[in-house]
Amino acid sequence: MIKTLRFWILTLISFSLIAILISSFFSSYIVTKKSLIENSLKQNEVYSLKLAQLTQEVFASMQANLEARKPDVIEHIDNPVELTKILDQLLISGKNFNSLSVIGSDAVAIATSPNIGIAGNKIESPGVLEALRKKSNIISSPYRAVTGRLLILVSTPLFDDKNKYLGMLNGTIYLEEENFIKDILAKHFSEDGSYVFVVDKEGTLIYHPDIKRIGENVRENKVVQDLMKKQSGAKEIFNTQGQHVLAGFSFIEASDWGVVSQTPYKSSLNPLSGIMQKMFFYTMPFVIVFYLLAFLLSEKLAAPLKNLALYTMNSNVNDQSYEKPKISTWYFEAKQLSETIESYRKKQEETLADFKHQSLTDSLTGLRNRRYLELLFADLLEQNKLFSMIMIDIDHFKKVNDEFGHHAGDDVLKFLANRMVSISIDKGICIRLGGEEFLIVLPDAPIQEAYLMAEKLRTDIEMSMPPIKRKITISSGVGEYDLKEETLSDFMHRVDEALYDAKAQGRNKTVFSK
Ligand code: GH3
Ligand code: MG
Ligand code: MG
Repeated sequence: MIKTLRFWILTLISFSLIAILISSFFSSYIVTKKSLIENSLKQNEVYSLKLAQLTQEVFASMQANLEARKPDVIEHIDNPVELTKILDQLLISGKNFNSLSVIGSDAVAIATSPNIGIAGNKIESPGVLEALRKKSNIISSPYRAVTGRLLILVSTPLFDDKNKYLGMLNGTIYLEEENFIKDILAKHFSEDGSYVFVVDKEGTLIYHPDIKRIGENVRENKVVQDLMKKQSGAKEIFNTQGQHVLAGFSFIEASDWGVVSQTPYKSSLNPLSGIMQKMFFYTMPFVIVFYLLAFLLSEKLAAPLKNLALYTMNSNVNDQSYEKPKISTWYFEAKQLSETIESYRKKQEETLADFKHQSLTDSLTGLRNRRYLELLFADLLEQNKLFSMIMIDIDHFKKVNDEFGHHAGDDVLKFLANRMVSISIDKGICIRLGGEEFLIVLPDAPIQEAYLMAEKLRTDIEMSMPPIKRKITISSGVGEYDLKEETLSDFMHRVDEALYDAKAQGRNKTVFSK
């Protein structure tokens, strides 16, 4: 079935709405995703920076602690018992060290705290050898000590008044055990898979939440490479485990280390589905309201054309009784169409009325014709109405034609028709039956009235001068229809006979039918 305009309007609106929704959801999805990623990168960057600063501060305070006790240590450099006491105090007050030691310039451990059983031993670990060589403040790279522990050495050199090198005061941090780095960083391990790790300048893991990985070299990692170039920032990368992560990283000046804070890419996007859902639920009421409005508007838009279409469908050209419904035409096209249809319909009606009139009218005289008579009879019969009739024939009309010509004959016919109309005014209906035979039908009139009118017409014609300038006469038969006893054709026949009698009685006569 062919679809309506409203259907197409609604289809168009639905398609547009869906297209707008899809594109807006899609663009929101992209924008939200981008901003979530940017946020996560920024957060991790800020975070790693804070942790780097914190670590740096702790290092500074550790160095300061060692520096503060240096004079005491130098004073008691030859007294291991006193030195041990000093170290014990420092271990408690300094907090951040796992162990402390004083090592002489010959690399022999003079005192330790706690007692780890190395006093009196020569210590040739990489950290100690580096500190002996450099004779300055150092923070060593991680190494495995004789005790088997993975550790870092924070060391400060000892010089006497004469600037003679006496050895060094060391603090250690055990990387695989409880230490201050872990204290600072471990609490930042979060459930969404985010974690923090620290690398040294070689790219070796100094801290990682997975202890087993401490000591592993991860220089393949892109952000570790940046840290080794002393850079800080944030990046979206695949780490050495092949994990897609968003990482912020900061370089620690004091130790040449780097802190990396990272969040799995997927976790960063966790809020996305919630945001999209919320957006969907916030949008839906507007969509529904908009759709309802569009629904109503489509009705308003389509109604004029629909009504016009129904009107033209239902209104039959022959059915003049079909009234044009009230159609609101509130926009140009509908208004124009409605007016055109209306003017076309009016013209049709006029033409139709004209045709009808012509088909029921005699063209020569302008009187009603035989076809009209049939309708009139049917009407009178239906109403069961009394009526009378005068049947008229011109006397010796052939002669008129013969003497004056057919044209003049026509003029005589027109002349008689005019006289009939003016005499029968209001009361009778004048009809030309054909040739020079005429009828006057008189509804509601008894035969006497018909007779009087026939006589009036007869005398009028007798007295008047027709256009041929020769007088003419007419003969008439009159009758009253017997509603109960006869058919119309019987009645016509009866009146025709009366006319025949009038002719027979010498013409210029009016005769009652029997
Ligand atoms: P009667 O007195 O017996 O009626 O004699 P009549 O000559 O009138 O005879 P009839 O009524 O039989 O003649 C009819 C004539 O009318 C025949 C025809 O030539 C003429 N006639 C019929 N129709 C027309 C017409 O439309 N125009 C003209 N000019 N003459 C017509
Ligand atoms: Mg005749
Ligand atoms: Mg005649």
